[in-house]
Amino acid sequence: MTDATQEKTGLGNYFVANYPPFSFWKPTFLPDAHAVLAAPPARPETPLGLYLHIPFCRKRCKFCYFRVYTDKNAREVETYTDALVKEVAIYAKTPFVGGRPLNYVYFGGGTPSYLSAGQLRDLMTRLRASLDWDGAEEVTFECEPGTLQKHKLETLRELGVTRLSLGLENFDAKILEYNGRAHHEEEIYRAYDWSREVGFEQINIDLISGMVGETWDNWRVCVQKTLALRPESVTIYQMELPYNTVFSQQLKVIGNDEPSMEIADWPTKRAWVQYAYDTMTAAGYSISSAYTLVRDKGAKFVYRDALWHGADMFGTGVASFGHVGGVHVQNVDRWEEYIAALDRDELPLGRALPITPHQALIREMVLQLKTGHVNRAYFQRKFGVDVRDEFADGWRRLEEDGKVTLVGKEIAVTPEGMLVVDRLLPTFFEPEHQGSRYT
Ligand code: SF4
Repeated sequence: MTDATQEKTGLGNYFVANYPPFSFWKPTFLPDAHAVLAAPPARPETPLGLYLHIPFCRKRCKFCYFRVYTDKNAREVETYTDALVKEVAIYAKTPFVGGRPLNYVYFGGGTPSYLSAGQLRDLMTRLRASLDWDGAEEVTFECEPGTLQKHKLETLRELGVTRLSLGLENFDAKILEYNGRAHHEEEIYRAYDWSREVGFEQINIDLISGMVGETWDNWRVCVQKTLALRPESVTIYQMELPYNTVFSQQLKVIGNDEPSMEIADWPTKRAWVQYAYDTMTAAGYSISSAYTLVRDKGAKFVYRDALWHGADMFGTGVASFGHVGGVHVQNVDRWEEYIAALDRDELPLGRALPITPHQALIREMVLQLKTGHVNRAYFQRKFGVDVRDEFADGWRRLEEDGKVTLVGKEIAVTPEGMLVVDRLLPTFFEPEHQGSRYT
């Protein structure tokens, strides 16, 4: 592959969400997951979280590859939420909980805010009867602005949501529409004002650098409009072109018939992220990871930080990912199978992977690298390993390439490295996971 080809936005994912890669997780490892769940936690001090996947959306964004449904009626939504409640109840009774309270809860999707206020009240009340989140440090809820009403937000606040994540992605009507987003710009401001009035502890705004049709002029406006809202947190992803999306199937059409609607290449998307980071840090924001800026330095994102530090998490809902006591797990990814398993009162687990202590070390190190630095003392304490020595070759290569600096005890990612951090992480993968299919 030439450099020029590599810099085009081609098909596929580069984002690293976990390690070892998902393609190594297998149904044959499910007994390992069940064995872990059937015993008290070996490390009861490990924080425990709950992820809930709400797989409904008003329409499918053209770049989306998640397991989502746009055609389910109220009866089917109820069938799903009943199953979700049952799944959480099954987890709550496993010895693995070991009396641990939930440290964090995350409602993701899909579009959790697709549910009505009444459905959310019913769902959350029943969930909390099994696993309460009163003592949780953070309860995050993802929203699509066009699905919000003030009373829905009040319901969420009342039921314990602390962090509201608004998927804005862009402000321009034409770009939103072309990319298949369901919301409009005026809905953004309405939703944001209501969210502020209701008083969530933290509001996060998601943007995407490189939506189809994006331009420098519009991106500058997006960043300025975001800043004007003064959210506690801003998350910016670089647009990928995964397989099995509307756009991936239209790729040729995009290039030939609508030149103005081409997808930007990687250097341009990185320049846009850099612009956003420069503008926002000049306005007082701090970089908290390769994708996130926060208004108050030190503002937490408990879900992310817990995951990146090896927390346990029950991943509930169709196709969800979790991690229990050193075993990765993923639920079955088909609606029918998911519902059927819970009808039988069984956990709907589809595949798993027990990870070795060395893989756990790599996993935490590469995920924490996304914050821009690695705390060697943390790894020394937790794994008894000096990661600087253990991965000396990898660090040297990245240093020579200008992506990290190694000064004294510190390992830091350079600004240039931060913009491509996901591409650096496989440097530390075990040989059999190098160059493997990620999903
Ligand atoms: S709102 Fe999110 S989950 Fe739903 S279709 Fe769009 S990108 Fe996918």
